[in-house]
Amino acid sequence: MQMISNFINGALVPAVSKEYIDGIEPATGAVYSKIPRSQKADVDAAVSAAENAFPSWSATPAEVRASFLFRIADLLESRLDAFALAESRDQGKTVTTARTVDIPRSIENFRFYATFITQMEEITVESKQCIHFALRKPIGVVGLVSPWNLPLYLATWKIAPAIAFGNTCVIKPSELTPMTVFLLCSVLQEAKLPPGVVNVVHGYGPECGQAIAEHPGIPAISFTGGTVTGKRLASTTAPLLKKLSLELGGKNANIVFEDCDLADCVATSVRSSFTNQGEICLCGSRILVQRSVYASFLEQFVAATKKFQVGDPQDASSNMGALISKAHLEKVMSYIQIAKDEGGTIVLGGERPTKLSARCREGFFLLPTIITGLPPSARCNQEEIFGPVVTVIPFDTEEEAIRIANGTQYGLSATVWTGNAKRANRVSQQLDTGYVWVNCWLIRDLRMPFGGVKASGIGREGGKFAMDFYTEVKTVCSKL
Ligand code: NAD
Repeated sequence: MQMISNFINGALVPAVSKEYIDGIEPATGAVYSKIPRSQKADVDAAVSAAENAFPSWSATPAEVRASFLFRIADLLESRLDAFALAESRDQGKTVTTARTVDIPRSIENFRFYATFITQMEEITVESKQCIHFALRKPIGVVGLVSPWNLPLYLATWKIAPAIAFGNTCVIKPSELTPMTVFLLCSVLQEAKLPPGVVNVVHGYGPECGQAIAEHPGIPAISFTGGTVTGKRLASTTAPLLKKLSLELGGKNANIVFEDCDLADCVATSVRSSFTNQGEICLCGSRILVQRSVYASFLEQFVAATKKFQVGDPQDASSNMGALISKAHLEKVMSYIQIAKDEGGTIVLGGERPTKLSARCREGFFLLPTIITGLPPSARCNQEEIFGPVVTVIPFDTEEEAIRIANGTQYGLSATVWTGNAKRANRVSQQLDTGYVWVNCWLIRDLRMPFGGVKASGIGREGGKFAMDFYTEVKTVCSKL
């Protein structure tokens, strides 16, 4: 049994309650870890530690802060395989995905912000017989709350900029996937990060997460997770006038025009539909295909998806692992039933795989599932399923594709497949999303803004956008 600890003031400690939550390995369905059930008292201790660490850390020169981040990145990189295995075991994703996506991107989060804070420029203006300049200050103790789908990657996407810009932080990872942030704590100790700069409290959202949201010592919160939780955080923090960044759910459209490179589109669409079991907020869950190529796209897409291997995440030949939990598997399967009830056709999948190794028989696996025949208004085309389930919808004109794509409450990302550059720009410009990929998917440059519109979130992260969130700017006007 792996025992997980909180990390407060540089020390690994149990929750004050001494209570634990069972941590379950999704591929086996068995309990394999014990997670501290932290509550208000633990959050209070973490905030005190972060408050005490703030004056010194915020006064530490950017170059020195950067050197800590580089050291953390180097240590993480030296343990890439161990972290990838731990992430896979805790989350259900394949070791290959963790090894090639999650952990390298976590390392990059630290390196990017280490470089950023030593390279960024500010502007001073001279006018009206005055010099005007802006002082950028860290906020103080920031609260970070992260989800289970990309555990280390999304946690470090918050920790790295928070501490790079001179804040101290209290983070609560998802209670479903605490392991790699727990392992990161040893890396932080080894990197000799001053105690209290990063504090980790594990536990349930409504207890531990809510205590972070309500804490008067935390003036800013960065949250990634579901839209319902995001609304709850917004209503808790608004009367307290906290700064809030919300990265929420999506129902992303993958729009395929007849003039695209269909082979490239099919190969990428298989990845954008089923990578990480479809449990990436940026997965394209509605594939809109121009009617003239609908039949050939569907035929090729089904054939390519059939080659996708669902199996033991630790097996190098598996492309898809287990879903995060039994409850989530049941939720995703309930949508397959809803699709049938609404008149949809399950073209592929829709069931749990039968050929699994003995180790994985009780795991939360589902075959990649393709559904057709549902109108854009169907529940499977409106609600976030967040699993290996996609719908394919035909359209005739560009206007219709844009209307369908924009016709949900969400607005996180979209993908446009076309060989016509003018069309690519025209459609990208009209999509109500925070991100559009043209003829590609999931390629990121960390300088670019990232975030959603409508029910997909408020605010932007990445590059200077994260700098704006994690700092306050004071303008000084000084008479010459
Ligand atoms: P969730 O909202 O259930 O939980 C996210 C985090 O919030 C967890 O740590 C949870 O413990 C905590 N939490 C729950 N209730 C809370 C409360 N009352 N106060 C404070 N914290 C609370 O989301 P999830 O199921 O972990 O993640 C899946 C969702 O995250 C999907 O909707 C997905 O689209 C979204 N997501 C969005 C992005 C993005 O960048 N927009 C990225 C990844 C995932």
